[in-house]
Amino acid sequence: MRHRQARRIGWLVAGLIAGLMAGLMAVCFNLPLNPVAASQPDPQLPELQVHSLPLTLADWSEPAGDGAQSGDYFDAVQPTELGYLVWSKLPVQVYIQAAEADAKSQAWYAAVEQAMQDWTVYLPLSLTANAETADIQVLRAAPAIQPLTARPGHPVQLPRIRAAETKYQFFQRQSKGEIQLFQRFTIQLSPNQTADYMLATARHELGHALGIWGHSPVATDALYFSQVGHPTAISARDIRTLKKIYQQPTRLGWGMPAGTAELE
Ligand SMILES: [Zn+2]
Repeated sequence: MRHRQARRIGWLVAGLIAGLMAGLMAVCFNLPLNPVAASQPDPQLPELQVHSLPLTLADWSEPAGDGAQSGDYFDAVQPTELGYLVWSKLPVQVYIQAAEADAKSQAWYAAVEQAMQDWTVYLPLSLTANAETADIQVLRAAPAIQPLTARPGHPVQLPRIRAAETKYQFFQRQSKGEIQLFQRFTIQLSPNQTADYMLATARHELGHALGIWGHSPVATDALYFSQVGHPTAISARDIRTLKKIYQQPTRLGWGMPAGTAELE
């Protein structure tokens, strides 16, 4: 995918700029960590700063009663070398690949649209027909099957067929006389699932794309690391985690004066 208005940041090698969150059936892929960038931030990058909390999260009230599980799983969320994956320009623009005439692709589209509606209560999302400028692209495709790999200390495991995969990349753009860094996500979501699972998977992957770059250890959370027998809704724990993420510093969405940066 080529983005005309946004040039890729040249100073981060490909392996570092593309994060990858494997789907429900798989553990996280190699999350991009750059110890050099983390410990010695480039003085030309925007400073780590906290954006104001979106009103939808600020106004969110804890569910009443004992039904909701307490706590969050913020500790499992990974910051990137540019900080947490916070969206500061709302609503987040989401592109959903158009459905074909067949029932399968229409069910797929409906599931993604429903997942969007489920999240927009907590973080405003808006449907866009423009794939080129979308913040998040949701594509109807089964992720490529990963080759067999062996890691030191781990037995060789047969690759599982994954239902979805979410990736991000960083870009830069000129905005109001300054250079801003921003993220873009691509979600590949397989249409070969039952409607329930498709909705659960779409919710899960959208959760990653909204900034929850990690997995919950609790099966009743949408961001649980594994697919469960009974697909779950977005939980209070998911929202507490999201809210905490949006209170963290990031270099994304902050500017530096144009001309001072040599990012190519
Ligand atoms: Zn996941």
